[in-house]
Amino acid sequence: MFRIPKTHPRYKSLMKREKIVAGIEAGITSKQGLIAHGRGEAFDYLIGERTLPAAMRATEAAAALLLTARKPVISVNGNVAALVPEKVIELSELLNAPLEVNIFYWTEARVRKIKEHLERHGATNVLGAKADARIPGIEHARARVDYEGIYTADVVLAPLEDGDRCKALIAMGKKVVTIDLNPLSRTSKHATVSIVDDIERAVKNLISMVKEQKKVKGALLEDYDNEANLKEVINEIAERLQDEDL
Ligand code: ATP
Repeated sequence: MFRIPKTHPRYKSLMKREKIVAGIEAGITSKQGLIAHGRGEAFDYLIGERTLPAAMRATEAAAALLLTARKPVISVNGNVAALVPEKVIELSELLNAPLEVNIFYWTEARVRKIKEHLERHGATNVLGAKADARIPGIEHARARVDYEGIYTADVVLAPLEDGDRCKALIAMGKKVVTIDLNPLSRTSKHATVSIVDDIERAVKNLISMVKEQKKVKGALLEDYDNEANLKEVINEIAERLQDEDL
C-alpha cells in the first residue's frame, strides 16, 4: 500500500482509496467498484465528510431494526470487504448475524477470495459460497444468494447495494438497511432504512448504537419514515452548501 503521511489534509480519504486499490489487486474488489467509490466520494465531499444529524437518526433506527430482527444477515461486497473487514465482523458478532458475500459482478473465484479475506480477519461464519437460491425478479448471476442466509433473512443490512436488488429484496417481504452516500440513489429510495453516510463512519456508529441499545433494550422506532429522513439529508446538504464560503 502506498504510504500516506498522517498529516496530509486528506489522509482519511486517500487511505480509503489505497484500501480499494489493494482490494482490486487482491482480486476482492471489482474495477467497477472503483467507479462506485468515486461516486460515493463526490457525495461525501458535498456532505462535508462527517455524519449528518439525519444520518445519525437513520443509524439509530437501523440499530433498533437489526436488534429486533428474527434473522438478520449482513451482505458484504468487494468494496465493503476492502474498506471495513474488521468492523463488519464485529457488527456480525454483536448482532449474531452471519456475513454473506453477495456481489454484483459475481464470479465463484471472487466470492471465495472475499470469504477467505474475511476469514483472515477473524470471521467464522461467512456465507455466500453455496449460492443455492435466487432472488426472484433479478436476472443472471447477481441474483445468487444462500438459502440459509439472505434468502430466508427477515432483515438484511446491504451496504453499497444496487437499486434493483434492494427493490427485489423488499419485494420478497424483507426489511433492508442500506449504507449509501448518495441520497438520490434507487437503493436509498427503496430501502426500509437508508443511512446516507460513508461506510467506515456508518458501521462504526452502528456498532456503538447496537452496544448502547443492547444495554437499554432499545425500543423499535415504529414511526421511522425513510422518505422523510432522505429529505432531511438533502436539506442538511443544501443548507451546508448555502452557508459555505465559495
Ligand atoms: P442505484 O442502483 O441504487 O441507483 P448506483 O448505480 O448509483 O445505485 P452502485 O454502483 O450500484 O450505484 O452502488 C454504489 C453506491 O455506493 C453509490 O451510490 C455510491 O454513492 C455508494 N458508495 C460508494 N462508496 C461508498 C462508501 N465508502 N460509503 C458509502 N457509500 C458508498
